[in-house]
Order: sequence, then C-alpha cells, then structure tokens
Amino acid sequence: VPGVSKAAEAGRTILEAARRSRAWDRLADLCDRVGPRLAGSRGYAAAVEWAIAEMTADGLSNVRREPVRVVPWERGAESLIVVEPNGPRPIPVTALGRSVATPAEGITARMVVVPDFAALEKLGEGARGKIVVFNFTMRLAADGGGGYGEAVRYRAGGAIAAAKHGAVAALVRSVTTQRGRSVHTGSMSYEDGVPKIPAAAITIEDSEMLARLQEKSVPVTLFLRLGGRMLPEVLEANVIGELRGRESPDEIVVVGGHLDSWDLACGAHDDGAGVVLSLEAVRLIKQIGLVPRRTIRVVLYANEECGLDGGTAYAESQRATIERHVAALESDSGGFRPTGFGFQGAPAAADRLEALLAAFDGLGPLTLRRGWSGPDIGPLAKLGVPGVGLRNDGTRYFDFHHSPMDTPDKVDRRELDDAVAAYAWMAWLLAEMPEPLARAVPAP
Ligand SMILES: [Zn+2]
Repeated sequence: VPGVSKAAEAGRTILEAARRSRAWDRLADLCDRVGPRLAGSRGYAAAVEWAIAEMTADGLSNVRREPVRVVPWERGAESLIVVEPNGPRPIPVTALGRSVATPAEGITARMVVVPDFAALEKLGEGARGKIVVFNFTMRLAADGGGGYGEAVRYRAGGAIAAAKHGAVAALVRSVTTQRGRSVHTGSMSYEDGVPKIPAAAITIEDSEMLARLQEKSVPVTLFLRLGGRMLPEVLEANVIGELRGRESPDEIVVVGGHLDSWDLACGAHDDGAGVVLSLEAVRLIKQIGLVPRRTIRVVLYANEECGLDGGTAYAESQRATIERHVAALESDSGGFRPTGFGFQGAPAAADRLEALLAAFDGLGPLTLRRGWSGPDIGPLAKLGVPGVGLRNDGTRYFDFHHSPMDTPDKVDRRELDDAVAAYAWMAWLLAEMPEPLARAVPAP
C-alpha cells in the first residue's frame, strides 16, 4: 500500500509527542472551570468562550463561532416518591431531556413494570392511567455501543409507547450496567398525535425493587413531579479553528467532538474527551512540525445531546462546497484506550484505510469497523464525505455516561494520551494522503 512507511514514521513521532500531551489537564480545566454545559445554559456560553480562548492560545487560524439554532430544554425541580407500600419513600429520579413537566401538583398513580416493549403490548389496557416502568436490562459489551443500542430505545421511545397504551407517565431504568444507584439522563422524543407524557430515568436498583414488588403482587403507588420545559429558540454556536494545509489549504479534513454536555455533571467522557482530543491532536501536529497537505478544521459542535443541531447546521452550511471536505473525523465515545476506528462511506475507501491502519504500531492493533462514524459528522457522511470515528474500549463508558459520575477523575491520563496519539495520527493521515479517500454516493 503506498504511503505506509511514511504513515508509520508519522505514527511514531506523534505517539512520542502524545506522551507529553496536555489532554488530561485541558479536560480537567474544561470540567472544573466551565462545568455542565447543556445547550441554552450559561454553561454552554462559558464553554464557547473557553473553546475560543483555547484555540486562540494554540495559534489556530480563522478561530470563529458559527450560529446554530437551538430550542433548548431546561430541567426543573423533580421528585419521585414511593407512596405505598410503606411510604413516603423518596427515590432518585432524573427527567429525560425534552420531557414535559407533570402538573404542578404532581402525578400520583399506580405503577406497572414491564421488561420490554413486547410485554407492554401484551398488557393491552393494563397500562391505562398508570405510570409505566420500563425495566429493560442493558447488556454489557466491550464495544460500548452494542448493549446501548438495544437499551436506549426505551429511553428514546418509552414515553411514546406508554402513552399509546394510556399511561400517564414513563419511568425508564437508567441505560447503564453500573450499580452505583445513580441516574443516567439522555434525550427522549414525542410523536405527533400521541399524548406527551412526562418521562424520567430511575436507578437500576429502584427499577428492580419495583419489579420485585410487582412480582409479589404488592400494589405500588408512586408520586412523580417533574418541572422541565422547552425554552424559546436561541442562537448557540459551533466553535471552529483551523490548521491551514501547506499545499491544498482549500481541501478540508474536519476533526471534532461536541462541546455541549448533559447537566448532571461536566461531561468528562461525553464529550469533553472528544473536545480535548481534537484540540490536542492539532496542537501536537503543529508543534512537531508535521503540518499536512490539507487544512485540518477543528469543529466543536453545539447541542449534540438534545437535538444534534450543531452537526446538522455545520453540514447544511457547507452543502454548496461539500466536495472540498475530503474527510470528517469525530470522537464521541469517551476517553478510553483506543482500539481503532469506525468508518462510514465507500467500501473502496474503507479498504484503503484498513490497509493504512496496519502501519500504526505502539498501541496494539487498531482495527476498522465499517458502517459507523459519529453523530455530529453523520450529516456530512450523508452528503458523501468519508466519515471516521475513534473507537475505544467502551466496557466502562456507560458506567458514567449522562450521569453525575461523568467527571475527569474517571478518565485515565495514560489512556487519554494513547487516544490522542491514535486520533492525531488519523487526522494527519486524512489530511496528508496524496489522493483523498473515495467518496460515497450522497444519500437522497
Ligand atoms: Zn456524546
């Protein structure tokens, strides 16, 4: 494969430089000084200022913000109480993003627990007037996405399914395998023509407790009060900066992650890691003098978590000159030991990338998985831009994901540096390869 020896040499230089990366310190700085940064919040505005200052300090060119329309969701006061048996017993609860509020006086209703959607169907009228609890058990998978994909359907669509059966609210077992009696939030949605009922996540432990009570035929009454609401549309921003290419500066490789996070913690893994990997990759490439042929454009996206607005707006803004985008790279799977990349695009491009991956040594084998890249670059991939996503050992990602536990102490400095190396090398490779990757046929 042409270019392998040059790629291998660059890989060694980048790996060496990544041993002195500032990624972890920058992550802690974002987490500690800015904190939670849900779109529409003061935290997100502070994150934009932080990112502009960091890119400027790194000496990037054309540092700017680009407007993104966002309809933000704001959390309100929330409480969940077991009224009977033996109540009142408060249990932890967190509203899901976009959930409507309950009436101000709350909802008091009998509960019914189902393990999955099929059980809800069988219940028929049995859910009418009740609070439905989805006690779906997430499967632990080293490739984080595996078990998540199955379980997240209940968070995303549980309220719709429950409302179709006449339920008055939906509670979802947190999408995690970690028994830390913690709640994990995330976005949900409604469907036109189906009543909008409030939806929230509860802990694994309480979800199982409620299921055990039902098994024993103990009547359970719950009290739920949620105060979340959608806010009027605001203009948020993607933050952008560039390392200009030495030969073909008009050809662009987009590298990024999402700048927003959930509000329960500071989003260290999700996606503070992707933010600092993107910043550090470019800073190290610049510092060691490996300025590539094409421009590397760092894009930190707004509101991935509750609307995917930043990624959508960026692709839309580039539609007229989309051929100038030769590839897009994203990290949104946490800051763990890297295992390879995902690829979304033409099979010929995947073959070529797979052959080049063999050139990188020092971190164990990096493998390519076809069919997936990342959420924010998905809209670019649909326009035919080859999409590449960093993959890592995601065994523990969903322990922390969208929970109050997603703080920088959960990110290992050495693992994050290894991720910087793999990610920076891929950014360099995409921006340096003599012929760009083959493009996919745009989706209609
Ligand atoms: Zn994320």
